[in-house]
Amino acid sequence: MSLTAGMLDSLLAESRSPAHVSTPALNAELLERACRDDYPEWLSLAQSAGGCVRPIRLRGTIRDIDPDTGEVMHALDTNETPDKVIYLPCGDRRASVCPPCAETYRADTYQLIRTGLAGGKGMPESVSIHPCVFATFTAPSFGPVHTRVELSGGKIARCRPRRKASYCPHGRRLSCGQRHKQNEVCLGRPLCPECYDYNAAVIWNAHAPELWRRTVIALRRHLDKLAKARGVRVRLSYAKVAEFQRRGLIHFHAIFRLDGVDPNHPERTVPPHPAITADVLADVIRQVTAGAWFATIPHPMKANGWDITWGAQIDPQIVTPTGGSQITDVSVASYLAKYATKSTEPAGLPPGKITADNAKAYATPHSHEGRLISACLKIGAHTHEDFRALRRWAHMLGYRGHFATKSRRYSTTMRALRRERRDWHRASIHARRPTGTRSSSPKPPWNGPAAAGAPPATRFWPCRPPLALAINAGSPVRRCPLRDDRKKEVRPWKPRLRMTCWMEPGSRPRNWPGCWESIHRPCAAGVRRNPDTDRRSSPCPRG
Ligand SMILES: [Zn+2]
Ligand SMILES: [Zn+2]
Ligand SMILES: [Zn+2]
Repeated sequence: MSLTAGMLDSLLAESRSPAHVSTPALNAELLERACRDDYPEWLSLAQSAGGCVRPIRLRGTIRDIDPDTGEVMHALDTNETPDKVIYLPCGDRRASVCPPCAETYRADTYQLIRTGLAGGKGMPESVSIHPCVFATFTAPSFGPVHTRVELSGGKIARCRPRRKASYCPHGRRLSCGQRHKQNEVCLGRPLCPECYDYNAAVIWNAHAPELWRRTVIALRRHLDKLAKARGVRVRLSYAKVAEFQRRGLIHFHAIFRLDGVDPNHPERTVPPHPAITADVLADVIRQVTAGAWFATIPHPMKANGWDITWGAQIDPQIVTPTGGSQITDVSVASYLAKYATKSTEPAGLPPGKITADNAKAYATPHSHEGRLISACLKIGAHTHEDFRALRRWAHMLGYRGHFATKSRRYSTTMRALRRERRDWHRASIHARRPTGTRSSSPKPPWNGPAAAGAPPATRFWPCRPPLALAINAGSPVRRCPLRDDRKKEVRPWKPRLRMTCWMEPGSRPRNWPGCWESIHRPCAAGVRRNPDTDRRSSPCPRG
């Protein structure tokens, strides 16, 4: 797919993911909550979830401990909070699951991609002059489908006009002269479902990550050869986002950046040799993708295995900071970040696994996605892991790769961005807290520098965020696999503090309206972002 400036504008102008609409039940819940005496306290605690619509609830005790003095700077027992729990955001990437958390993820992805193109957050600003190419890697055709293509003037092209159209063996005319509307149901659906190669389509989804891996290896080899001819070395970095098309096939949007290698300081990111330009990089991408191919292992349904190749529409485009006739780093970062929060929604599938119980409902021969799921289940009956995985990933139509990935040296990491936000958030909380509110809890009985002349409180208060966070769990309902990493926050000093969190199955917890601001300022969508965590309006150092 060719990405023009007009297309980007329309994509960026498109409204954000639909938020949870206001309902009478929600309004009643909000009103009841707002009338309580403890509403301000609940509000201040609820804000820590950042507007999450299905927050994780934690029960226990939190202590902020100064590592130098061992002093308890702040303590919170959830038994004293209005809901007897504290809330944390679920952190889901998918906008269909949790719009506010997906918005945070989108903003993080934007920063991640933008810093690789413009510098900042540990990346040198000189990366903005490195050769950069944006490319879209599509799947090949598995049969003609209804499409909607917007022409340069904003006009919609006819779907598939053929004056002398052929007929398929099932008697269907392989032509469509319509100009389809934006969300027409037939889009992405085959002209003849019987002729469409559903098996090859899901096999391609399942092997797309392997094809990507091989393509990147081949790209690096080609570029190394080019650089070697000039007596220099180059390094290819990339960031990529996977997206489901309406036809139920995955495709990748990727940004490639070429760096040079300084033999004296190999860890530095320096510009490459001037002879290796963005045009050269684009040519190499064209050549390599045209030749990228491998075959799957044999399957009873395909004796020689399926051929895995890219589709014809690669169209690498050069990215510059100024734009002009080319696309800019901002537009590419926005474009990729937007798709990082999507899952199988464009293909019309609900987010959720396909199990033996619901397989019958989804694997129906009456719909396009149903046929794709059937193909996954059918091929997945094979014992080899390459095929068996299709059953486990039938809800993703066979695809089992990551939705947003990057090479190690491309830019900063999600982990660093999250840590920066968390530290900033904690520091801002402590800055707001007056010095007199320090907990009077007794000093923990472990040895620390506190024993010998503790420094005055003002020395580290309030600018220093707490370094220890520990929650002594009450009775956990269910371990939360997503939150196990929070154990790492417990610092190695003694005593050993146990932390457990859980997430009850089901959707919105009780007393969680998901829209705390709409009480004061009802918005059209029914949900307002938390101003503390919404970087568009807050003075967050991440900008
Ligand atoms: Zn959430
Ligand atoms: Zn059509
Ligand atoms: Zn047919």
